[in-house]
Amino acid sequence: MARPPDQGLVMVGPILMRFGTDAQRARFLPKVLSGEHVWTQGYSEPNAGSDLAAVRTEAVLDGDHFVVNGQKTWTTWGADGTHMFMLVRTDKTVKKQAGISFLLVDLKTPGVTVRPIRNIAGEREFCEVFFDDVRVPQENLVGALNQGWTVAKALLGFERLFTGSPKHSQHTLHQVEKLAQQRGLFDDPAFVARFAQLQLDTADLGAAYTGFAEIAKRGEPIPASISMLKIWSTETYERLAMLLIEAAQDYGGMRDMCRNDEIDMHVVAPLFNAMGAKIFAGSNEIQRNILAKAVLDLPS
Ligand SMILES: Cc1cc2nc3c(=O)[nH]c(=O)nc-3n(C[C@H](O)[C@H](O)[C@H](O)COP(=O)(O)OP(=O)(O)OC[C@H]3O[C@@H](n4cnc5c(N)ncnc54)[C@H](O)[C@@H]3O)c2cc1C
Repeated sequence: MARPPDQGLVMVGPILMRFGTDAQRARFLPKVLSGEHVWTQGYSEPNAGSDLAAVRTEAVLDGDHFVVNGQKTWTTWGADGTHMFMLVRTDKTVKKQAGISFLLVDLKTPGVTVRPIRNIAGEREFCEVFFDDVRVPQENLVGALNQGWTVAKALLGFERLFTGSPKHSQHTLHQVEKLAQQRGLFDDPAFVARFAQLQLDTADLGAAYTGFAEIAKRGEPIPASISMLKIWSTETYERLAMLLIEAAQDYGGMRDMCRNDEIDMHVVAPLFNAMGAKIFAGSNEIQRNILAKAVLDLPS
């Protein structure tokens, strides 16, 4: 059976394999694999995006449960999700990063409210999720109490690996090729040069992705240099998306899924996706900061 590589497969699964207890692995991993649980990511909040350690959604221990109050935002697939992995503040008295924990939450728990947000394409891709005295069993804590920042960063490594996949660029390259053939653009040497450049960039992306995927497969920590893959992947995708729009010529502004005799594809969709991909998993500006500090060792 075909299924998309959702956040259960690419984020929660690998995290539970590394940081989960045996009981958490037995309880959650089979349902990640079967697709019965649809996982969502509860990291961002209205005042905690790039500055993720500023999360304020609070979890207070009450007997054998945490009581969660606060709000998450930009939750992809929130309206379809059954579960959320989330960062919560469990200690307000220490340095920001030292008071965060990583919790798994069933979104059907009383007190959870999910409100959809429309994206630039008019689709209900994201949600805001509100938590009002939501009781979460203590056994849903991943890693130790107040050690969630370590788990959070490891998960971001997997998210950046997933975002670094060449599949979107490869698909858009094929779309450009198809359109260029239909419209005779390969007769133009300037177009051929640009296409060849992006074809090589996409091949480089595939090679870089394979290298990082091998690190993950060996079970080694994903290095900070994964930020380079995230930038390369999303910016190659964006350049291809722009070339697709140019290749569509008079039809480049076609916004909807409608097809006509001239153009048989959604020309603007890759650009919408690429714009979002440059922001999620940590914006590309933040990735450049990480490369400067953690890889090149430049001063802050
Ligand atoms: C398509 C999409 C899907 C998403 N899905 C999810 C999801 O499922 N779950 C989730 O938790 N979040 C999700 N997000 C949210 C995403 O993680 C945040 O949007 C992102 O981290 C940026 O945070 P922000 O929106 O608060 O922007 P801000 O942090 O306010 O940043 C605004 C701008 O300032 C720049 N900036 C900020 N700080 C610095 C700095 N120190 N140096 C240089 N530039 C800086 C940023 O690069 C950006 O351009 C999604 C976002 C998008 C676009």
